[in-house]
Amino acid sequence: MSIANPVATASMRINGERLWQSLMDLARIGATPKGGVCRLALSALDGQGRDLVVGWAREAGLSVTIDQIGNVFMRRPGRNNSLPPIMTGSHIDTQPTGGKFDGNYGVLAGLEVMRTLNDHGIQTEAPMELAFWTNEEGSRFVPVMMGSGVFRGAFTLAHAYAATDVDGKTVKDELQKIGYLGPEVPGQHPIGAYFETHIEQGPVLEDHGKTIGIVTGVLGIRWYDCIVEGLEAHAGPTPMHLRRDALQVATRLMQEVVACAGRHGPEGRGTVGMVQVFPNSRNVIPGQVKFSIDLRNDSDAACDAMDADIRGVAEALSRETGLAIRLDLVSSFPAQPFHPDCVNAVALGAEALGYSSMRCVSGAGHDAVYMAQLAPAGMIFIPCKDGISHNEVEDADPAHITAGCNVLLHAMLERAGVVG
Ligand SMILES: [Zn+2]
Repeated sequence: MSIANPVATASMRINGERLWQSLMDLARIGATPKGGVCRLALSALDGQGRDLVVGWAREAGLSVTIDQIGNVFMRRPGRNNSLPPIMTGSHIDTQPTGGKFDGNYGVLAGLEVMRTLNDHGIQTEAPMELAFWTNEEGSRFVPVMMGSGVFRGAFTLAHAYAATDVDGKTVKDELQKIGYLGPEVPGQHPIGAYFETHIEQGPVLEDHGKTIGIVTGVLGIRWYDCIVEGLEAHAGPTPMHLRRDALQVATRLMQEVVACAGRHGPEGRGTVGMVQVFPNSRNVIPGQVKFSIDLRNDSDAACDAMDADIRGVAEALSRETGLAIRLDLVSSFPAQPFHPDCVNAVALGAEALGYSSMRCVSGAGHDAVYMAQLAPAGMIFIPCKDGISHNEVEDADPAHITAGCNVLLHAMLERAGVVG
């Protein structure tokens, strides 16, 4: 779809002050003393936050529909309403010690796009929609990305309904209580293309001094449990050459996890985050070490290559030392590349607006991952201060907030088409 009248929209910009004000207004609901936000999914505060956003959407003339998992869709009609909508969205639930921007930015940037189109009296060819998805954070209820996951069909509505919080309250009851158990069947809602604007939640953009991250995809993940079996013995009487020290072998393998990430760059990641030493006693040679391995990369092939690499290293180490090493894959999430058309729309938008930009990957999951399995999708990242997120001190520069929203506006217009 092409823009019928590019001159009319090329100079169009969102209202950064209005967007910032909306972010601050929403952040007052569930505000924490340290400047963050605590608005857990489907809590009374989440209900208030939802009401505020939906109220703003109605004021902007958007029509609102709600599905059975509480996902909310706010629609601005186009000229041809038989076309699937160009959608943007994110989430407004937060972590217990969350910030003002994670998720909220993506939702309110979408609202600001709609307000801007109204200001300029723009009619798009395809309709546009703004969505917020239920329980993205997964803090109060598991699984994470619940609303978009049910919409995608990754798990059933019944499974999501049955999830309980620590007090035994269910998702279905809590949806009902805040008035967001809607009638629409999740997933019965076509999408033409999906964009999500988000703070990066990492340090790469800031490190490169770039304003816009053109997100090419989300990293695939492999989680392993590793066990090295040695032999417990007294630290004094056992000479060095007769030991079967599980920790000494395990630490060599841990170093290899990091080295493996380096061998499969630039997006390879390798982390050992959890270690248990048995018996964990000062004067006993460790008899067993259990540790976690988290490997990530930007394609399933690269994840497979890292898997083969680390298994090969573990086998060689086991042969050399005579200690048994077990490596069990416990979880795996495929890499999710974004659609070239959407990635290009973001790149073109950033370029046309004169913002510095770079291609990057997302190391964290987002609702856009599920949307990418249903429709062409893409993401726009902006820097956050010191790369910090899921923290009350989470912060972002108002100029970057504005820039990301302008890119969203132009990327959505490029996909929706403008009636000239
Ligand atoms: Zn988020």
